[in-house]
Amino acid sequence: MKAYQELTKEELLTLKAELNAAYEDAKGKGLKLDMSRGKPAVNQLDMAMDFLDAVNSQSAMKAEDGMDVRNYGGLDGIPEAKKLMADILEVKPENVIVCGNASLTIMYDTVSRAMTHGILGNTPWCKLDHVKFLCPVPGYDRHFGITEHFGIEMINVPMTPEGPDMDLVEKLVSEDPAIKGIWCVPKYSNPQGYSYSDETVRRFAALTPAAPDFRIFWDNAYAIHHLYDDRQDQLLEILSECEKAGHPDMVFEFCSTSKVSFAGSGIAAIASSKANLDDMKKSMTIQTIGYDKINQLRHVRYFKDINGIREHMKKHAAIMRPKFEAVLKVLDEELGGLGIGSWTKPNGGYFISFDAMDGCAKAIVAKCKEAGVTLTGAGATFPYKKDPKDSNIRIAPSFPTPEEMAMATDLFVLCVKMVSVDKLLE
Ligand code: PLP
Repeated sequence: MKAYQELTKEELLTLKAELNAAYEDAKGKGLKLDMSRGKPAVNQLDMAMDFLDAVNSQSAMKAEDGMDVRNYGGLDGIPEAKKLMADILEVKPENVIVCGNASLTIMYDTVSRAMTHGILGNTPWCKLDHVKFLCPVPGYDRHFGITEHFGIEMINVPMTPEGPDMDLVEKLVSEDPAIKGIWCVPKYSNPQGYSYSDETVRRFAALTPAAPDFRIFWDNAYAIHHLYDDRQDQLLEILSECEKAGHPDMVFEFCSTSKVSFAGSGIAAIASSKANLDDMKKSMTIQTIGYDKINQLRHVRYFKDINGIREHMKKHAAIMRPKFEAVLKVLDEELGGLGIGSWTKPNGGYFISFDAMDGCAKAIVAKCKEAGVTLTGAGATFPYKKDPKDSNIRIAPSFPTPEEMAMATDLFVLCVKMVSVDKLLE
């Protein structure tokens, strides 16, 4: 396969005509496919319907410690749910608070509390002239949405296959006291599917921030979301690394069972040091008398323990894997060696990240849309929805069937080729 950059103008023009004809053909097929949001497919949800029966009108409603889950109380969660979430994160139950149905809410609340009340006695962020967050890019759009919502300035930090560019993180964090946080998806990152190396985690734990209330927002959303049995990324546990490095309070870790049980009806948790959790609870106790303990109990009764969750996640993987493979096959076969794009091949998580030639992403997404395939908006993976290179596109293979994914990717590669040829002819 010859790289497009090596083609003559005449060859490019001939190719352009062929691609245009194929595109008109594709448009005629009336496709209506969506690879935009990383939500579980219907058969993943169907697979867990008996989860709903794990707690019913016949069930004993007492938690391990005798607490009646139907009544008020238990702000930080029932003991067995704390243990379950702690095992997912490989931390101690005493470092965990089990909250409501979504980790995004906890992240929002954590930033909101820091804005209005400050962290561990430090000045509330809303009283400061400048508050900044580091944002590894590409990243998760909803993280950036939270910090943008609170008027926090976001600074891009490039991602590498080992994690964020740590030279830059160390430099910025140690020099600028206005930098109060960094968003991280440390395992099977959204959208690249990268997992941070041990060295990256250790460098995070060893950070010496200029701001005493700097926190790492460690969103371990895909901690147990492997695609393969024999190829699984391992992530060093950050809480204990921070403790070892003498910075026990530097991290807030988040996770949920949104993509384990039901999206939107799972349970979510935060893990952190005792000092941070006690600080949070001062506000939490004003906010609620306790979260949904019946759902916490339902999770424990259904999954039993971490091994039950791991077995269940294998069933999810069996459904997800063919979809990822369908996308990767088309990308490899159709774009391999052409020099007009690169893409990630994750071992887990929910996404594949595609980098087109600079200046092409928006046009590719628009061309796909015109022919019936919806992708995540170009730019969405960057703060302020601005991809400086207009190059990154997030592919979310989870929702359509493998056959639909293959069809959608066929159209996607056609659009990548068309837009790249146009770019080279400019
Ligand atoms: N964090 C990341 C990195 C995600 O990709 C997602 C969903 O796509 C979430 C959090 C949302 O999690 P939850 O449903 O617990 O709010």
